[in-house]
Amino acid sequence: MRICAYEVREDEKRDFAYFNTLPGVELILHSEVPTLENADWAEGCEGVTTLGQGSLNPELLDRYKALGVKFISTRTIGYNHIDLEHAGKIGLKVCNALYAPNGVADFTVMMMLMCLRHYKQALWRGQVNDFSLHGLQGREMKDLTVGIMGTGRIGCQVLKNLSGFGCRLLAYDVRENPEARELAEYTDLETLYRTCDIISLHMPLLPSTWHIIDKESIAKMKDGVILINCARGELVDIEALVEGVESEKIGALGMDTVEGDEGIIHEDHRVDILSNRNWFYLHQFRNVIMTQHMAFYTDAAVSSMVRCGVQGILDMASKGTCETELTR
Ligand code: NAD
Repeated sequence: MRICAYEVREDEKRDFAYFNTLPGVELILHSEVPTLENADWAEGCEGVTTLGQGSLNPELLDRYKALGVKFISTRTIGYNHIDLEHAGKIGLKVCNALYAPNGVADFTVMMMLMCLRHYKQALWRGQVNDFSLHGLQGREMKDLTVGIMGTGRIGCQVLKNLSGFGCRLLAYDVRENPEARELAEYTDLETLYRTCDIISLHMPLLPSTWHIIDKESIAKMKDGVILINCARGELVDIEALVEGVESEKIGALGMDTVEGDEGIIHEDHRVDILSNRNWFYLHQFRNVIMTQHMAFYTDAAVSSMVRCGVQGILDMASKGTCETELTR
């Protein structure tokens, strides 16, 4: 079985190397994003695996099919870059990847603590040998109420992580999770907004969740609220965030994903002129921590993503399906 791997990063190569030692498996690694122009690299391969930067649209899928490809995998959880309906129509089997929720959940708690203890400001000061304390007085988790919106895999793990801190835990979801019910008190959104000192988002981006945090919802929150978003940027209206920070309604932001971060994150832009005004304006506040969509990025998650990407193709070929096969 030959598999053509696109978008291969340096940190994935060790895990790919393991699969190259398996009898009958040959992996051809490319760092480039898959396009029509480089589709021929998959000639003679039964499988193609990618990350999420390219678009596997009908034209490209047709080309792979014509080249003899039968199986596609994306080494990401998200798969909206693949036209699944078309893949199904032309008989290409597709799978995605899974990894444990712990990495993102750990990162979320780190963001909460960094916000509570003004760590961005402390870090900046340290860089210019300013080791003063003024303005850095923090708060303790045990005195606070934390609200988790979305209690699926990651939200529930955040609740588990937080259960040792002694804070009061509230939760909101459209569907209650029995495991989360053991750890937190489910409540309606209005109560969560009104009561929580820290609110953390863990739901998927859907038409029903797009801009769920906007000017109206922020107005209902406690003064000085800390908002954490390690889910999807577009859950929150960036204009509302800017206004909330300027008016000091929002006490701090910990954001691993922010609306409009495509084209900015995961690249070195030191010599570029960038025009995303809201994003950079928000970024400059002393109480706003913004990271480059990196909450998932751990050794364990990367190994799992490569393993699912390759093993998924091998299983679909040998068993007809795999644990993470995607259907329309
Ligand atoms: P999940 O599907 O396990 O859980 C999502 C939960 O959100 C479910 O319980 C669902 O019922 C709930 N939900 C749906 N609509 C809702 C609504 N309107 N209000 C409240 N809750 C609602 O997903 P997950 O794996 O826990 O992922 C959570 C989020 O984290 C997703 O947005 C995902 O894209 C994001 N994510 C981010 C990173 C990162 O690196 N920052 C990595 C992985 C996942």
